[in-house]
Amino acid sequence: MDTEKLIKDVVVNVMQRLESEKVPQSKTGSSQNSNQENQARASSERKVVCGVSVRHVHLCKEHLEILFGKGHQLSELRELYNPGFAAKEAVTIVGPKLNAIQNVRVLGPLRSKSQVELAKTDCVILGIDAPVKPSGNFEGSASAVIVGPKGVVHLDEGVIRANRHIHMCPEDAEYFGLNDNDEVDVRVPGPKGLTFNNVQVRISPDFKTEMHVDTDDANSADIVNGTLVDIVDASCIAPLEAQMADANGTPPDIPDGSFAGEITDTNVAKSVSNSLASQADKQNGDGSSEDQQVSVSGDDRKIVITVEDLKDYKDSGIKLSDNVILSPLARDEAKERGIKIY
Ligand SMILES: [Zn+2]
Repeated sequence: MDTEKLIKDVVVNVMQRLESEKVPQSKTGSSQNSNQENQARASSERKVVCGVSVRHVHLCKEHLEILFGKGHQLSELRELYNPGFAAKEAVTIVGPKLNAIQNVRVLGPLRSKSQVELAKTDCVILGIDAPVKPSGNFEGSASAVIVGPKGVVHLDEGVIRANRHIHMCPEDAEYFGLNDNDEVDVRVPGPKGLTFNNVQVRISPDFKTEMHVDTDDANSADIVNGTLVDIVDASCIAPLEAQMADANGTPPDIPDGSFAGEITDTNVAKSVSNSLASQADKQNGDGSSEDQQVSVSGDDRKIVITVEDLKDYKDSGIKLSDNVILSPLARDEAKERGIKIY
């Protein structure tokens, strides 16, 4: 077992032990809700290990033999945390600027098609405009020249910048309520903390849960192999006004109609709508709050229709009213899709 894998396993074990030790402690609260509280606490503490994916190459058999000689077999340098291994073999990548990056690691096992995974900085050095793609998706991918000790391959397609992704085992997927190919937001803590969006979730029983980012993403947030990160919901960003709740948790009134035609960010529109809706739920659901000043009642609930919601209105059309608001983007998109607005 190699050191990196050992360290990751130890980190995961320690985290799991800390988590399981916390459960009995908080149970001493002896309230009926303690189980729910524990779950909520655990879910905010269930971390994901992050790994840094340095530029590398996957080869098909044909290209391996061109680069390293007929009948050549990859030899394993070290096992990876997720299925596969880093091979002893390395190649040189050359781009149209005729700059070269040497010692680019080959990862095994062999694949049916060769693929080069670079970070943006690598692309700038090489003069290659590689798109952000999930591994194996070659549509619109870039080309490069791969140089080995025995030969040269001109790779017409297959040069990508790998998308941010999380390899996830089915148990963790169930825990987080995620499906294969879902996209999540991931928060990295620390002085260079960042929230990464559009992180693809890939689920397989062969995977151990681990996020992969390229070296540019890693360096921007000070991520090293084994950094622990959180899956978060970054769409809950709300305008400061909506966050400035009073002592009763009531946000200030947002004047009627003030955001129609003003909010262009669908996330913000959604969060204003959610904030108003949850406020209404709170007021309706809790009898004790009846004597509070109700700024938003259930009847005043606003529905903000965003582009994502349009599919629900495909047949019925959209009936606008004081409480049903269409985001400007959704309005344009609805017109384009021929969805009736009345
Ligand atoms: Zn990966």
